[in-house]
Amino acid sequence: MYKIDLHLHTTHSDGNLSPSELIDLCYTNGLRHIAITDHDSTEGIQESINYSNKYPDLEIIPGIELSTDFEGAEIHMLGFFINYKDKSLQKILNDFRDSRLNRAYFIVEKLKSFDIDISWNRVLEISNQGAVGRPHIAQAMVEKGYVKYPKEAFEKYLGRDQIGYISRAKFTPEQSIDLIMKYDGIPVIAHPTYIVQKSDNPIKDLEKILSNLKITGLKGVEVYYNDYTKDQIKSLLNTTKKLDLIPCGGSDYHASGNPNEIIPGTVGPPIETLVKLKKIKNSF
Ligand code: AMP
Ligand code: ZN
Ligand code: FE
Ligand code: FE
Repeated sequence: MYKIDLHLHTTHSDGNLSPSELIDLCYTNGLRHIAITDHDSTEGIQESINYSNKYPDLEIIPGIELSTDFEGAEIHMLGFFINYKDKSLQKILNDFRDSRLNRAYFIVEKLKSFDIDISWNRVLEISNQGAVGRPHIAQAMVEKGYVKYPKEAFEKYLGRDQIGYISRAKFTPEQSIDLIMKYDGIPVIAHPTYIVQKSDNPIKDLEKILSNLKITGLKGVEVYYNDYTKDQIKSLLNTTKKLDLIPCGGSDYHASGNPNEIIPGTVGPPIETLVKLKKIKNSF
């Protein structure tokens, strides 16, 4: 049914499937155009492209997901067709990953003062030299029995308002849009309803945020996403139409081990989305 998934993670960040495992799953589930969008890393892209030779009718879209700070909350920015071969981009992404490593270390230390004793070496092992994230810490906590699922670790300890949370210096959404465009990528805002979770009137706020980001260069919005309801999708679709942004989407699959995880092939944007993205790409 769904042929396109524009949001997927691998072991190069906090996904639990290697590029080849992910690609096999996506292909088996009917997908034919997939974007690899690891956090602060494009290390899985060449590997994915090489492996996809096994499936001549499968297209791999190079992508990235960057976390940004926005008014005490977080906005994630996807960059499609980014020039992942550029050395200066790789230097920047390396720095981002170093800052993740530092932050993860301090989270593990902080957790100790709350009697959560997980081994830093184990977290490193789980992250397997990919971009370290809180899901790796969560997995170490599951292994030691502190929580049943990674999700529970976020709810009790690692979430933004929880005791184990530590922030790290991040770009603003505008800076991340600039960065993605500098390397020929198309900036698309990820899972936008998370940003306005606590707002009384989310859609109105969101419209303002999106129209401001469009001035900087934002080209699209994730509309067909993960567990969004029909109403959420409808409302986001209206917003993107009004602002003339491209409605994108995907499963944001991590193979996280959380119950009821949405799997690749069960959500995604229509084919016109990809046509529009490619039209922009070809105009560069
Ligand atoms: P980090 O990159 O360290 O800030 O961690 C963010 C990642 O953690 C996201 O990309 C998700 O994969 C995961 N995550 C965030 N919030 C939750 C949650 N409430 N439950 C499970 N996973 C989450
Ligand atoms: Zn993630
Ligand atoms: Fe995200
Ligand atoms: Fe993601």
